[in-house]
Amino acid sequence: MKTFVLLLALCAGMFGPTYGVFAAVPAHDTQAAFDYACKVLDYDCSRLAPPGVVWEPLYSFGVLGYYNGDDTIHMDTEVLRFADPVFTQSILAHEIVHYLDVKLGYVTLPYTMQTVCQSEANAWRVGNVYVLTHGRADLARFDWFVAYGCFK
Ligand SMILES: [Zn+2]
Repeated sequence: MKTFVLLLALCAGMFGPTYGVFAAVPAHDTQAAFDYACKVLDYDCSRLAPPGVVWEPLYSFGVLGYYNGDDTIHMDTEVLRFADPVFTQSILAHEIVHYLDVKLGYVTLPYTMQTVCQSEANAWRVGNVYVLTHGRADLARFDWFVAYGCFK
């Protein structure tokens, strides 16, 4: 009996997200992340709607989220559905900053190394402030510019 229950749990784990047995999309609030990013960066977002959000497996490709350069951000489900909601919300706010930087004209596409670093500085600022003010200071990263090669 125990083996059967274990197998059932494993199958639900493997196929659950596909068939909607378990919610693959983590708890999140796009509007709140949008408002938070605008507030921290002191951006006037009054004439801009939040981006569309596509939740999909991304972590296998090495990212937790990305902005598509248009009206949509993409967010990972593989790892984020098991993550602390504070972390998920900080990543959501981070990706929204990239959307805001382009939509509000602070960054022009295509990205250059300079504009990538400019937008990442804004995005990490918002993400770090979010985790620091929501009880997860351990999730803040201040060495992001090393990983992105922005200090050279
Ligand atoms: Zn980023």
